[in-house]
Amino acid sequence: MATIAFIGLGNMGGPMAANLLKAGFSVRAFDRSPDALDAAKSDGCEVAFSAQEAADGADFVISMLPAGRHVRGLYAEGDTPLFEVIKPSALVIDCSTIDADTARSVAAEGETLGIGFVDAPVSGGVAGAQAGTLTFIVGGSDAQFAQAKPVLEAMGKNIFHAGGHGAGQVAKVCNNMLLSILMAGTCEAINMGVKNGLDPAVLSEIMKQSSGGNWALNVYNPYPGVMDNAPASKGYQGGFQVDLMIKDLGLAMDVSQNSASPVPMGSAARSLFTLHKAKGNGKLDFSSLMKLYHDEA
Ligand code: NAD
Repeated sequence: MATIAFIGLGNMGGPMAANLLKAGFSVRAFDRSPDALDAAKSDGCEVAFSAQEAADGADFVISMLPAGRHVRGLYAEGDTPLFEVIKPSALVIDCSTIDADTARSVAAEGETLGIGFVDAPVSGGVAGAQAGTLTFIVGGSDAQFAQAKPVLEAMGKNIFHAGGHGAGQVAKVCNNMLLSILMAGTCEAINMGVKNGLDPAVLSEIMKQSSGGNWALNVYNPYPGVMDNAPASKGYQGGFQVDLMIKDLGLAMDVSQNSASPVPMGSAARSLFTLHKAKGNGKLDFSSLMKLYHDEA
């Protein structure tokens, strides 16, 4: 089985690395955080003292880092950029959500050294990472996609090839911008119904079966008590943080600006989530936007 270096073992990367181990890959893990490294070690990963040590001789290098500057810093900058260590036949799979321009430029730098690089951001959150059911949205060549697929299948259920380098990141922010709009609209509609005497569960069921039906109503109802397992019924804990949604909406605004694509609904959703964060809700699940409309949510 192939050897995989895994860099970035946070909320997402930790369980993803554990699923690679379960599938039989040998995983050499590195994170700047000693706690994250300890957790990876107890999952069964071999831990490395640096990203360079983890990547040396590996067949695949996977990264799951916070933002574009971390990805560029790891592969292309610093005393020993990782591209100077990675063997030419290896494939880099960056699963972080970052800006498409960084994904494209880092891929181009890898290419000059004969190292393949794909952007492969994910959808599905921490629960999907733990269950091995993530959706991967890959940007890269056909050959690179074919090389990455068996590895991604150990961590996910749906593996899409969006297009060339950077296309995975563009598709990811299109999806999350739409999600933010759907969630904001769902909160707005439920609040209006409740303010007019409707039961939120009854109204949700009506809209779910009607033309307003959408993902938030189907699996992630934002009104407390309507869906037992949704974050709304657990004090908006867990799930997908408002802070992360705002990060993705910022990336969407960059794509919009760089391509002159008008996004009035996405801009409105970004303002709503930013207002909600300004009221101290950045760490709550994004469906807590309901609180902006409804005092008792
Ligand atoms: P996290 O903050 O929990 O984990 C990031 C990890 O990277 C941390 O452990 C940090 O120590 C480590 N790190 C940072 N720079 C490093 C470096 N140079 N070398 C080694 N380790 C380094 O974040 P997360 O929630 O796991 O998210 C990771 C990425 O996945 C982000 O880009 C995020 O937008 C994306 N994402 C997150 C979710 C989610 O629900 N959490 C869902 C989809 C996508």
